[in-house]
Amino acid sequence: HSNLEVDWSTESIVERRNRFYSASQRKFVPYKEPLILKRGKGQYVWDEKDQKYIDLLGMNLCISVGHAHPQVVKAATEQLAELTHCTTMFYHPVPAQYAEELAATMPAGHDWVVHFTNSGAEAIDLALLMARTHTGNIDMLALASSYHGATFGAQSVTGISGFRHPVPQLGGVTFVAEPNQYRGAHGEGVEPYLGEVERAIASSTSGRLAGMIVEPVQGYGGIVPMPQGYISGAFERVRAAGGVCIIDEVQSGVGRTGDAFWAFESHGVVPDIVVVAKGVGNGIPLGAVIAKRDVAESMADKFLFHTYGANPVACAAGRAVLKVIREERLQENARAVGGALKTRLEELKKQYPLIGDIRGQGLMLAIELVKDGTTKEPAPEAAIAVFEETRRNGLVASRSGPYRNVIRMCPPLCLSMADVEDVMDRFV
Ligand code: PLP
Repeated sequence: HSNLEVDWSTESIVERRNRFYSASQRKFVPYKEPLILKRGKGQYVWDEKDQKYIDLLGMNLCISVGHAHPQVVKAATEQLAELTHCTTMFYHPVPAQYAEELAATMPAGHDWVVHFTNSGAEAIDLALLMARTHTGNIDMLALASSYHGATFGAQSVTGISGFRHPVPQLGGVTFVAEPNQYRGAHGEGVEPYLGEVERAIASSTSGRLAGMIVEPVQGYGGIVPMPQGYISGAFERVRAAGGVCIIDEVQSGVGRTGDAFWAFESHGVVPDIVVVAKGVGNGIPLGAVIAKRDVAESMADKFLFHTYGANPVACAAGRAVLKVIREERLQENARAVGGALKTRLEELKKQYPLIGDIRGQGLMLAIELVKDGTTKEPAPEAAIAVFEETRRNGLVASRSGPYRNVIRMCPPLCLSMADVEDVMDRFV
C-alpha cells in the first residue's frame, strides 16, 4: 500500500469490515444494504453515489451545530496546523479558556471545575470514581433503561441488558425503574418511582450512597424525558443518604431540548457532577466531567491523566461550538423547530394506530411503534420497515429503546422549518 487512496466500493467495505471483531460493527444497521456516507453539510449528508439525506440522527447526536460547520472546521484545522497536541504536563491556553467557558454554562453561585476526556464513557467512569472517592461510599443508583457507555465502569451503571456483557460487572449498583410515562413499571406519575428510590436505598444498598446517575432525557432508553419532580425528588433522597448527584448530559445537552442549555436546568436541580460529550465537540472526540469544586477536590492529590484529554484541537472545536450555538440561536431554533416537528408527529399519531407514543422535547424526539395501542406490544419489525422506506425517501434515522421499537429524531440543531415539511413528506 504505497498510497492513501480510499476504496469506496461497497463490496470492499463489506469485506473489510470483517476485520472488526464486534458484531455491532460487522452487521449493517439499521438498513439491509449498507449506507456509505461521503460528506455532510449542515443538517444533510450525502452517500457515495451523491444521494442527499436529512440526518435525522445527527450522527448519533454528535453533530450539534451542523456537519462541517465553517467556524468549527476553521477553529479545529487552524489549531491542528499550529500545535496538534500539548500533553497536560505542559500548558496551553485553549483548554484553559474552554474549561472556563464550560464552567460558565453551569448554574451560578457554585464553583465548577472541569476535567476533559475523549468520550462520554471515559467521563462517566471518572464521575463514578469521583462519587466514590468523595463520599467514601460504594453504592450507586442508576435507572433500569439507562445507557451510559461501553467501558467497564460505564457499563456497570447501564441498565439496558443488551449493552451489558455477560461477565461480572462492577458491583454496588442498584437499578430502579425510570418514570417512563408511557410504559413505566409503576404506570404514570412520579411518586411510585420515588417510592422505589426510597425502598432501594433502604433495602438494596448499605444506606450510605456514593451517588445516583440520571439522564434527564434517556437516549438509548428510547427518548424518555424525566417528568417534573422526579430528578429533584430522587436527588433529595440521594443527598439525605450521603450520595452525590450525577447528571449525564451526553445526549441531552448543548441546547438540544430547547428549553435550557443543559436539560437538567429545567428540573430545578443543581447536580454535583455533570457529564458531557457528543454534541459539545460536533463530531470531534471530546468529553468532560464538570463538577463542584468541593466534590472534585477529593481527586486533587490523586493520579488523573487521560493522554488526549484537553487536546487543543478538540477544545478549539468545543469553543467554536459554544460560540455558534449562541450566535446562531440554535437552542431557540431547537425549541421552535422541534416544537413544530412534534406537533406534526402528533397529527400523524392520530392517523396511524402503529404509533403508540410521541415524546421528547426540542430536537430530541421519538416515535414509539406498537402492534396494539392497548397492550402496547412493541413493534420492532415495523421500525425496520419504516427505515427502509425513509431511506429511499432520503432520511437517515435510527432506533433505540429496550425493545428497539423507538424511532429517534435527533437531527443537528440547525434543522429548519422547511426541513420539517420535508421530513413529514418523506415519512409517510
Ligand atoms: N451517556 C449517554 C447518555 C450516551 O448516550 C452515551 C453514548 O451513546 C454515553 C454516555 C457514552 O458516550 P461515548 O459513546 O462517547 O463513550
